[in-house]
This record gives sequence, structure tokens and C-alpha cells, in this order.
Amino acid sequence: MQQQHRIIVLGAGYSGATAAGRLAKRLRREDVAITLVNAEPDFVERVRMHQLAVGQELTPRPFSQMFAGTGVALKYAKVTAVDADRKHVTVVDANGAESGTEELPYDTLVYALGSGWNSQGVPGTAEYAHEIAGRPGALRLRERLAGLDAGQQVLVIGGGLTGLEAATEVAEARPDLDIALAARSGLGDTFSPKGRGHLRKVFDKLGITVHEHTAVTEVKPGHVTTADGTTLPASVTVWTAGFAVHPIAGATTLEVSGTGRIVVDATMRSRSHPDVYAIGDAALVAGPGDKPLRMSCASGVPTAWQAADAIAARLTGTKLPKTPLRYFNQCISLGRKEGLIQYVTADDRAVSTALTGRLAAIYKELVCKGAAWGVAHPTLGVPARRRPVVRERALEAPAVSASAA
Ligand SMILES: Cc1cc2nc3c(=O)[nH]c(=O)nc-3n(C[C@H](O)[C@H](O)[C@H](O)COP(=O)(O)OP(=O)(O)OC[C@H]3O[C@@H](n4cnc5c(N)ncnc54)[C@H](O)[C@@H]3O)c2cc1C
Repeated sequence: MQQQHRIIVLGAGYSGATAAGRLAKRLRREDVAITLVNAEPDFVERVRMHQLAVGQELTPRPFSQMFAGTGVALKYAKVTAVDADRKHVTVVDANGAESGTEELPYDTLVYALGSGWNSQGVPGTAEYAHEIAGRPGALRLRERLAGLDAGQQVLVIGGGLTGLEAATEVAEARPDLDIALAARSGLGDTFSPKGRGHLRKVFDKLGITVHEHTAVTEVKPGHVTTADGTTLPASVTVWTAGFAVHPIAGATTLEVSGTGRIVVDATMRSRSHPDVYAIGDAALVAGPGDKPLRMSCASGVPTAWQAADAIAARLTGTKLPKTPLRYFNQCISLGRKEGLIQYVTADDRAVSTALTGRLAAIYKELVCKGAAWGVAHPTLGVPARRRPVVRERALEAPAVSASAA
């Protein structure tokens, strides 16, 4: 019997889980062995971490249910290294026990390990700030918030989408607390006048103090200091100043960007290693106008479709697909009752149209539900187009081709 082509997908977040399901739908089980490696046994809806932090319960989504019957093998383990030249991945068991170290060989690797919080190198962040980039951080913040007394201060650092969502969520859930947000730029600077105006209105209504054009230079217990020497009080500091990728890719011979993201072509294939594909936050993908796609599930899911379809096309000798990589809107929750849907150009710049208010909150909720549904039903809605793998292609990866047909 001929050997199956081994595809390993690292990371079962929005992009990795989507890619694994789509590969299962595109390729025949007798031809490929697909393994999805993830540190945890259930899917984490990262886009709801601010909700988790304020005490809301999230729907449990075990991978064993999501992938039942798909043919995708699940491996719960922590990835510690990738050897892109010898084509194997090192994992330890999910608790990090050395005794559980294993090497997993692959023929094709899909790297989708996502990202975590980004301290931006600001002193005191690791020791004294909270973060909500993942579940452990959100749960720690949840415990801390629950222990705060009325009148204590929560200071959110970062005026990006995560900061806006975090500040409003905490303010709505805990009107007894004193909430503030510090942003390097003006509040909602990147939005249209309508979007910006609405944001200010909601912030005012929720009583959130805004420190605009404020760069935080140090976090200390009970306060932060800013570039002009001002001290801002903070019983709790929540750090939301961007995301950073895990250092695993940067420690390989894969070509990575200065920030450690794997540089890929239009088919999500590594520019340096044709057997490796990278998707989601972990990949540096050129979007419209050659601008890098921002770290988001809005970008991650289409990159997963593109990678899965390209892998299947290359293995089966069919035409390379081209998934459009473009933006339509930015969807921001402002608590559970308010929202802002800012429509954007293909390369993510605000246009004048924005949806606001209760309708926007419902729209955003549907987007989150839809994203989770897509992950939870990884093979539904994907037409089965399983063609046989061409043996020679399965054994030796063809040369890199940046142009998708
Ligand atoms: C509070 C918050 C709100 C957000 N809101 C939005 C939004 O509204 N819209 C939007 O588009 N984006 C939003 N984002 C960003 C979005 O969540 C991320 O960009 C997205 O999750 C990236 O998807 P991914 O598949 O690349 O990585 P992830 O979703 O991070 O998945 C990575 C997976 O890899 C696993 N993993 C990581 N390291 C290892 C390891 N060493 N070994 C094994 N497994 C590992 C993780 O457990 C995880 O399952 C938000 C993020 C946050 C934190």
C-alpha cells in the first residue's frame, strides 16, 4: 500500500481549525493523513476574551466533537520547535512534561499558532499588567475584576479595537468602577466621522475617561507613568497594545519578518520552504495594495481557505485557487448593547459609512457566532471536491509559484 501524504496543522484557532476541516473536505482519506495539533482540547473564541474577563460564560467547544467523523486526527500537545529542513515538529505533552517529548514528521506543514499579547517592551507590563489576548490572561483578569471594590480604577492601555472593546465591556459590566482608556492617538482616529462620533457618545454614556495622545512608558503597582511624566492611577492595568507572534517560527530557518511572522506568497506558502504554509496571525501576508493583512480572524479565515485549497490543488494537480483577501468592515462591540460597524476599503481604510447602535451590536454578535460556527463545523458548507492525490506531487513538493491562477 502506498504511503499517505502527512499534513500537520499546528494550532487550532480560527485559521488552523478552518484549514484542517477544509483540507479534509478537499482530499481523500486514503491519500492523506491530516493531524491537527493544539495545546488545548477545546476551541478558544479569542474574539470574546473581553467578555470572558467580565464574567460572561462562553459556550464550550471541544475539538473532539467538532472534528468527529471528519478524518482529522487530533493531537493535544504543545509545540516547542519546528525543524523546517528535516521536516518535523517537536511537541511535548500539553502539560509541558519533558517525558512526553515527541517528534512528528510531516510532508506538508500548516503553521497557525496565532499570537499572544505584545508588551511592546514597556517595563512593568509582565509583572503588573493584565492582558486578554488569550484565555489564561482573560481568566486572571476576571478574578481580579471580581475582587475590585466600587470606585477602584481600571485603566485600559491601547486605543485599538481590542482596547475599545475591553474598556466598554468592563464599563458596562461594572458601572461601579472607574474606567479609563489611554491611547497613543485620538479616540477612534482611524474611523469615519460618524464612527468616531458614535464611539465618543458611547464612551461618554459609559463614563469612560479617555487619555488621548498618551504613551505609557512604565507600569507599576497601582499606577502607570506616561511619556510626559504624568502618573495615571490604576488598581488594574489592562494591556491591549497589539499582538505578538510566538517565537517558534523565528527560531527556525524559515524566512520570517522582523516581528517573527512567516513570510508567505499569495498561496500562503512559505517563501523559503515550499513544504510549509503559514496562516492567520502567524503569517505575514500581503493584502490589497501590498499592505500586510492585520492580525484578525477577518484575515485569518480567508488565509486558511487559500492555504487549504492551494495545498489540495498542488497535491491533486488541479488549478491553483485565488481566495480574495480583502476587508469589508471592522466590527467592534461596545459592550453588549452597543456596537460600531465601520465599513472600509479593500485595504482596510475607513469609508464614510458606519452602522451604529443596537443594530451594530447585533451584527457584531452574528459575526462572532458565524466565525465560531465556521470553526465548529469545519467541513460543512465546503463542497467536497476530493480528487486523487498525484503520487509524485505527494512525495516531492513542486517548486514555489507565487502566482495563483
Ligand atoms: C479580545 C479580542 C477581541 C478580538 N476581536 C476581534 C474581532 O472582532 N475581529 C477579528 O477579526 N479579530 C479579533 N481579534 C483577533 C483574533 O482573535 C485573532 O487575530 C485570531 O484569533 C487569530 O487567529 P489564528 O488562528 O491565527 O490564531 P489563534 O486564534 O490565536 O489560534 C492559535 C491556536 O494555536 C494554539 N497554540 C498556540 N501556541 C501553541 C503551541 N506552542 N503549541 C500548541 N498549540 C499552540 C492556541 O492554543 C490556539 O488554539 C480579537 C482578539 C482579542 C484578544
